[in-house]
Amino acid sequence: MNAEHVIAAKFGGSSLADAEHFRRVKEIVESDPARRYVVPSAPGKRFESDDKVTDLLYEYYARLNRGGSGVSIQKKIRARYQEIIDELGLSVSLEKEFARIEYAFSKGAGEAYAASRGEYLCGLLLADYLGYEFVDAAEVVRFRQDGQFEDERTNFFLRGRLSRAGHAVVPGFYGADDSGEIHTFTRGGSDVTGALVARAVRAGLYENWTDVSGFLLADPAIIEHPRKIEAMTFAELRELSYRGAAVLHEDAVYPARREGIPIHIRNTNHPKENGTMICRTLDPEQEIPITGIAGRKHFAAISIAKNRMNAQIGFCHKLLEAFDENHITFEHMPSGIDTISVILPLEEYHQKKDAVTASLQRLLSPDKISVDEDMALVTVVGKGMRSESGIAARFFGALGGAGVNIKMIDMGSNEINCTIGVSNGDFETAIRALYDALVD
Ligand code: ASP
Repeated sequence: MNAEHVIAAKFGGSSLADAEHFRRVKEIVESDPARRYVVPSAPGKRFESDDKVTDLLYEYYARLNRGGSGVSIQKKIRARYQEIIDELGLSVSLEKEFARIEYAFSKGAGEAYAASRGEYLCGLLLADYLGYEFVDAAEVVRFRQDGQFEDERTNFFLRGRLSRAGHAVVPGFYGADDSGEIHTFTRGGSDVTGALVARAVRAGLYENWTDVSGFLLADPAIIEHPRKIEAMTFAELRELSYRGAAVLHEDAVYPARREGIPIHIRNTNHPKENGTMICRTLDPEQEIPITGIAGRKHFAAISIAKNRMNAQIGFCHKLLEAFDENHITFEHMPSGIDTISVILPLEEYHQKKDAVTASLQRLLSPDKISVDEDMALVTVVGKGMRSESGIAARFFGALGGAGVNIKMIDMGSNEINCTIGVSNGDFETAIRALYDALVD
């Protein structure tokens, strides 16, 4: 089959929370024969106060580890799966699976193993229900013994294994090292597995099915009914997700982006809705001036002043060394002729304040170091930042009109984003003002 016609479809936990959702998933999968590779998360919440199975599994492990009894929590987890098995008439036996899990615990299986069973069991049920082959991620998603993910080897194993499976379910979130020990990605990591599967089968599309109809242009907690983003580029997604508008695990973007596989975010509960398409480039008619507005509070700006800084060769090198030796990553580095600021998360600054100040003093002998501990970052992303005249005037006019004082401005070198620093107290006001002025 032509790779163009292969779709890798990942379904999130809320899309697999109960039998009713399994039915929806089956309907979606069967409505397009190209959906040959399916990656499930563990069952998520069925209602607001419900538990995610993964959280229950972490708790199960913690209780056993404390020497307590895991009976009641195991019962709860089993009940979640049993209900789905019974309602859908599946043939998977939980008896056998839970006996294996208990045996593995008795042999010292770790927390990652416990957490991974959510996806593992969900994958078994879904494979049975869809009539697809079950491919255990422990066989094909490779980690080193220190927990480091092995990208190339994973691609090699996954590609080889899936080329022999016409239709397969590969559980998300985990893999194993060569000794067989299970490791997981960070939370939400089934998105990553989905992207790896898409890459391995050279899919023409990676569908990420969730419980929202895509990315919103701004945070709905701040803007009432913000518009949805219909389409954006990978680069725009990076600028947005990075600032807290995440719908998709960050690490899921790289494999798809490198291979140029578009990611389509879709809603399992409203499969007819368009969702958000993320691809390398957009057609001119898909481009809109402003793709999204995002932000985050609680940053610190460390400003370093030194006379004739601009004439000193290696100044920036030493500055970066000060951050490097304290293992600090930073967000922005706006500069003037004799000053330069480094913006980093406030919490990180508090943890490493003394060490980094000492490094800066030693390496740079600055005239002055000052720190602003009250900074929120707001980013506006979109092609219009580069190509449309008048946007900047509207941008700054809106903030001025709303009485927001701008402490820092940084326009990314790719010119698809403009980031400003404001007081934490002005954060919401700034986002509202920008949305009203720039989005029609
Ligand atoms: N089940 C895992 C979690 O809750 C992974 C995932 O859902 O993607 O984080």
